[in-house]
Amino acid sequence: DLDRFKSINDSLGHMFGDRVLVEIAARLQRCLRQPDTLARLGGDEFVVHLHGADRQAAARAAQRLIDAVARPVTIDQMQFTLSASIGIAIYPDDGTSLDELIQSADTAMYQVKERGKGHFRFYQPQMNADLLQRVQMDHAMREGLQRDEFVLYFQPRIDLRQRAVPACEALLRWQRPGHGLVMPGAFIGVAEETGLIADLGHWVLRRAVAQAAQWRSSGRPLQVAVNVSALQFARPQFVQNVAEALRDFGLPAHLLELELTESILIRDAEEALAKLQALAQLGVELSLDDFGTGYSSLTYLKRFPLHRLKIDRSFIAVMPEDEVDAAIVAAIVQMGHALRMEVVAEGVERAEQLQRLQALGCDHCQGFLFERALPPQALADWLDQRAAELVARCVADHP
Ligand code: C2E
Ligand code: MG
Ligand code: MG
Repeated sequence: DLDRFKSINDSLGHMFGDRVLVEIAARLQRCLRQPDTLARLGGDEFVVHLHGADRQAAARAAQRLIDAVARPVTIDQMQFTLSASIGIAIYPDDGTSLDELIQSADTAMYQVKERGKGHFRFYQPQMNADLLQRVQMDHAMREGLQRDEFVLYFQPRIDLRQRAVPACEALLRWQRPGHGLVMPGAFIGVAEETGLIADLGHWVLRRAVAQAAQWRSSGRPLQVAVNVSALQFARPQFVQNVAEALRDFGLPAHLLELELTESILIRDAEEALAKLQALAQLGVELSLDDFGTGYSSLTYLKRFPLHRLKIDRSFIAVMPEDEVDAAIVAAIVQMGHALRMEVVAEGVERAEQLQRLQALGCDHCQGFLFERALPPQALADWLDQRAAELVARCVADHP
């Protein structure tokens, strides 16, 4: 399957598109041997039958085809480059009829498309299972949202200077019937793929704001941080949704923090900037989650109205043993401070890590050393009964 062929058709017309297909077909034909067969299935999809080839020969042929497609095309002084995604199925393991073989190759080809295009992949029986599982999981999540199966847990965030607990992060859990408590790692990925994450995130936002408002009215003002996915942020009504949630539950904006990822800021930076400014205007606090794992571009750190940087827990996990990662953490803390942001360390599990982070001037921290994410009532109990003593014991007076 040719990648992004539709844009050639759409921009240059079908007549032009046909000429491109003829050119590509000729190139593909030149890659094959006499006993092989090339056919066009329709649109920009081709099928090649390699006669008597094993896996190695199939892989070599696939690479030849990909390279042939990737050479620049010139038609009527127009020059452009195409790419192709290829799925490979082998007789008789992946199918014994033509239909079965083509379906298996198709499944493998779609996996290539999903993972960045321009490559080839062999079919694996697991792929169909994956696909089916994802379809089922998506369906179960949609039902779960209707049936109120999702819950929020809250992990405290400790202010190392004030030696206090000013905030917590809302983390999604799914009480899936027959599966127990399912962690986000098992379902957020599918929800991102199918787009359900936007609805799910909207539910999280409202639920978290409602919880923060309830804590506040019971005399315990605690800021709640909510993770926002790129798809949810991209919705035109996102800022309005945030404003509505605050208004509906009567929560002062500063008690809500939104955790964004770098992909949100990279994608359509101008629009992201306008939205972040509108959110900051509302009084909502903004933090950049999982910092250090993505582009970590200084340009947008400077431009966007961010209050906090959250250093990804992968850097903290290897501290203090790994000197390089410790140096990266030190650099992030300094950079964050230079840009007038607070720096939060995630995933702090050991006392040595905390000591080192304090010495580096890190402002806040979160992690199992203090507490895991808890249901709302359990977090309230923890705050009342354990937090003060634990923080006093763990957090050094004079770092
Ligand atoms: P995150 O936003 O980076 O959240 C922190 C994750 O680190 C949480 O995992 C938390 O339980 C875990 N964690 C905290 N302290 C420690 C520690 O000391 N050691 C270790 N090993 N882990 C620690 P969780 O709850 O499984 O969430 C995983 C990810 O799922 C989150 O990463 C976030 O990206 C995503 N997620 C969770 N809830 C939501 C949500 O409501 N919306 C969206 N879009 N994503 C969510
Ligand atoms: Mg987070
Ligand atoms: Mg994080």
